[in-house]
Amino acid sequence: MTRTRLALGALISAAALALAGCGVSEAPTASWHGAAAQSGLADGGQGGGAQAHPISDSTAQAGKPSASASAAPSASASAAASPSASAPASASSDGIMRQTGGAQVALTFDDGPSADTPKLLAMLRQQNIKATFCVVGVAVQEFPQYVQEIVKDGHTLCNHTWKHDEKLGKKSADTIRADLQRTNDEIRKAVPDAQIKYFRHPGGNFTPTAVQVARELGMISLGWTVDPSDWNTQKWKGDQMTQHIIATVRNNTRPGGVILSHDGGGDRSATLAAYKTLLPELKQKYTLIALPN
Ligand SMILES: [Zn+2]
Repeated sequence: MTRTRLALGALISAAALALAGCGVSEAPTASWHGAAAQSGLADGGQGGGAQAHPISDSTAQAGKPSASASAAPSASASAAASPSASAPASASSDGIMRQTGGAQVALTFDDGPSADTPKLLAMLRQQNIKATFCVVGVAVQEFPQYVQEIVKDGHTLCNHTWKHDEKLGKKSADTIRADLQRTNDEIRKAVPDAQIKYFRHPGGNFTPTAVQVARELGMISLGWTVDPSDWNTQKWKGDQMTQHIIATVRNNTRPGGVILSHDGGGDRSATLAAYKTLLPELKQKYTLIALPN
């Protein structure tokens, strides 16, 4: 547990979980982003550059570093960053990869695995589409068999931290390293030879330290360009959410884009319904890829 400095975060999480009708703070199925919604630190914050309700284009702001990173301007931060062996050509100057680097589009699903993951996997299988899954350690611990399915189906894995600590990047390099390593270890308990080449900070709250530690562990920091905020079930409900996801992805996806959605962290029925429509559509317009391992 790395909770010592998380009193506020824990309180916010508890409040959000209570709102979500779930009082078990460690439950992987709890809404990870509920806390983000309350604190304004949602996915979409920095990884995609948009705010908590980023319906409009987020690409333009995609290069923004997190508030905590502002002390180190992104350009110089990346210049100063040591070995960039794993940094892909498509990475921004702050070391965060937000585009695939080609015309291909990447679907990414965060916060799982969860009980909904098999349903998404079945849909992807049916359409013969590969994607990238940013998994949370405690969820991997609960659903190791789904991690095995993800890998077996040819999808790519991404480390989304042990328990979705949205402030992890502000902690010490050692704390960050321990968290990411623990998550990778848990993934490899499920799939011993798993390739884990990507890291996505919860909430997109990347910091230069987190990016650097991830790089040292052989992982590329992965942002996004399109964020339908499908985690925000407080704001959009049921079919309204489904339509919101469809419209956001449909209107904002461009060649090279990375689309952020969620297969865990709460009720994903709207996400599943949206992708039932979106998968064939996206497949027709773009080449959809699992990010390369
Ligand atoms: Zn997340």
